[in-house]
Amino acid sequence: MYASLSDRISDSFKKLRGKGVLRDSDVDQTVGEIRRALIDADVALPVVREFAQRVREQAYGAARSKSLNPAQQVVKIVNQELVEILGGETRELTFAQRGPTVFMLAGLQGAGKTTFAGKLGKWLAEDGKRVLLVASDLQRPNAVTQLQIVGERAGVDVWAPEPGNGVGDPVEVARSGLSHAIRNGYDVVLVDTAGRLGVDEELMEQARQIRDAVNPHEIMFVLDAMIGQDAVHTATAFKDGVGFTGVVLTKLDGDARGGAALSVRGVTGAPILFASTGEGIKDIERFHADRMASRILD
Ligand code: GDP
Repeated sequence: MYASLSDRISDSFKKLRGKGVLRDSDVDQTVGEIRRALIDADVALPVVREFAQRVREQAYGAARSKSLNPAQQVVKIVNQELVEILGGETRELTFAQRGPTVFMLAGLQGAGKTTFAGKLGKWLAEDGKRVLLVASDLQRPNAVTQLQIVGERAGVDVWAPEPGNGVGDPVEVARSGLSHAIRNGYDVVLVDTAGRLGVDEELMEQARQIRDAVNPHEIMFVLDAMIGQDAVHTATAFKDGVGFTGVVLTKLDGDARGGAALSVRGVTGAPILFASTGEGIKDIERFHADRMASRILD
């Protein structure tokens, strides 16, 4: 991911390297090139604009300073500002003081929610937590079976609709799953919810009802990093419709431009909590803005 963005930014830095003195016009050229590279990678326009302005302001100062290597300073400024748009420090997850912690997963169908539920379940279990996956995605015919398979792979229990567990009613399944978790001393409940192919009001209403039934400590918006400009629209719709406390970026192993994912923090204000980097159960990482920025600038 981001190979072409990365190449274009490093090409632009290369042109600066030979220069002993940086003029404002050199800064303008570099910032302009990076700006275009970000736009071509689908980064949202307001985010690009702010980024370019902040880099330019600081880089003018660096260009005028008597510092030995102003070009290196520009690289450093670009790095700092990339880290900034990606969210700076990684935020700790919020856990309940007492009783089970509830994490709810929301997002479009195909974003990678169910796959991520398994990964997160395993990640938490490896940290010593007793995890219950709750199958509140009753929209897709195979979703419950898929979650059961994923749960088995992750080695964590699954609460699925059965007579008495709220057959056909995702809100009831979520509610009864949480009661089951409380009664049986689970530490974390992961609620997988339905995703439609596009954003729709019925989906939002259902997600709101599930949210209100289980009162999650974190609502994680799961976003396919490969969906291009639509990412920003989808993220905004979920932010307004359901609200979320953090973002999970999936399919970061792909080779799409992926820039829209770079703007999700800037557009929604919510931190990126995790990165999913493959189909395997272990392909999960905490998201670190500085690591992502270095990957782009390497
Ligand atoms: P859901 O509809 O949101 O629950 O999405 P799924 O979890 O069913 O995932 C949809 C597809 O994306 C499946 O084929 C997954 O194997 C695949 N997938 C999920 N996460 C990743 C990822 O990080 N990288 C790649 N390459 N594929 C993924």
